[in-house]
Amino acid sequence: MKLQQNIILKPYHSFACEEITRFFTTVSTKEALVEAIDWANENNQPYFILGSGTNILFTQQFNGLVIKMEITGIQKLQETSSELLLEVGAGENWSHFVSYCVQKSWGGLENLSLIPGSVGVAPIQNISAYGVEVSEHIICVEAFDTIKHAWVSLPKQDCTFGYRTSVFKKEPNRYIVTAVQFKLSKQPFLRTDYGAIKAVLHEKGIRNPSVESIANAVIYLRSKQLPDPKKLGNAGHFFNNPMITTTQYDQLMVQFPSIMAYPIDDHTYKIAAGWLIEACGWKSVTKDQVGCYKDQVLVIVNYGATKGKTILDFSDAITQSVQDKFGVLLESAIHIL
Ligand SMILES: Cc1cc2nc3c(=O)[nH]c(=O)nc-3n(C[C@H](O)[C@H](O)[C@H](O)COP(=O)(O)OP(=O)(O)OC[C@H]3O[C@@H](n4cnc5c(N)ncnc54)[C@H](O)[C@@H]3O)c2cc1C
Repeated sequence: MKLQQNIILKPYHSFACEEITRFFTTVSTKEALVEAIDWANENNQPYFILGSGTNILFTQQFNGLVIKMEITGIQKLQETSSELLLEVGAGENWSHFVSYCVQKSWGGLENLSLIPGSVGVAPIQNISAYGVEVSEHIICVEAFDTIKHAWVSLPKQDCTFGYRTSVFKKEPNRYIVTAVQFKLSKQPFLRTDYGAIKAVLHEKGIRNPSVESIANAVIYLRSKQLPDPKKLGNAGHFFNNPMITTTQYDQLMVQFPSIMAYPIDDHTYKIAAGWLIEACGWKSVTKDQVGCYKDQVLVIVNYGATKGKTILDFSDAITQSVQDKFGVLLESAIHIL
């Protein structure tokens, strides 16, 4: 195991702050992963698994071992005339993997084009976009169970997927994903029902869309709406849309009749976090080189802050103002360390 010390994490996460980790290693095999975990346990060091770092914010020095997941490889396990089963290493870049499938006209993942991150985190957060959740195409997830200290293969039904959640999120730090199996289709059922995709296809005069034209539409839409983390530090949407009770919703409606929310069930409403934040006057606000992205207030961007704490302070100020004005608690959508 190649152990590095006092590594600046700036190149390893999309907020690109200069926090330091005491120890750092990369793992490109399952054996190396177990070796790294055992080393951390034997030396009483906490450890943290790092994918592409597009969903995290380091706010202080990490006094432990960062294990960067680099298990790669795309393997065809089965193929018929209509579908195929692929096993993909957790360290593969998600967006590259989707492009690889699109180039071969293998359908299923095209609506999830251009989402930054690694393949291993896709099932953890059940990534979703443009009407598709990745879980729809997952057959099983290969992982190391740190409680049993054993390899496990979790079939889809054991992953308890929900909107942006899964067993991996519900039992944090238990499973380390090493590979994901996907079922893709050679005669894909294309998902064009999402309004924005429909509009782009119409605008471009595409009447018979292909896997590729859907992917291109999604890439076009995402490039217009979200900042490229390689150019401008960010971690996508910083906040989740909060859930409130119907009673709370009725009270808010009296004071703020234009509030943007929709019912989830008889007792619960989901409110658009972006609406709450904009209503508190945060659109395009910048402070200490941190700001809300001009086209999407839910995205906090780093214009040059070196400390993650500056970004955390900015997000805390947003949370506080929403709490003060609406009495609603915003929750972070990203992992803050
Ligand atoms: C511009 C932008 C747009 C985005 N758009 C979307 C979107 O449309 N839909 C969406 O769902 N998400 C979106 N995201 C969020 C992000 O891309 C996803 O959450 C992505 O899956 C994160 O992958 P990662 O490898 O970067 O995870 P990381 O940030 O590296 O890690 C996230 C968490 O997973 C844990 N982890 C990492 N690897 C493993 C592993 N192998 N096993 C177990 N735990 C692990 C980490 O410890 C951490 O807790 C966006 C982000 C950005 C920057």
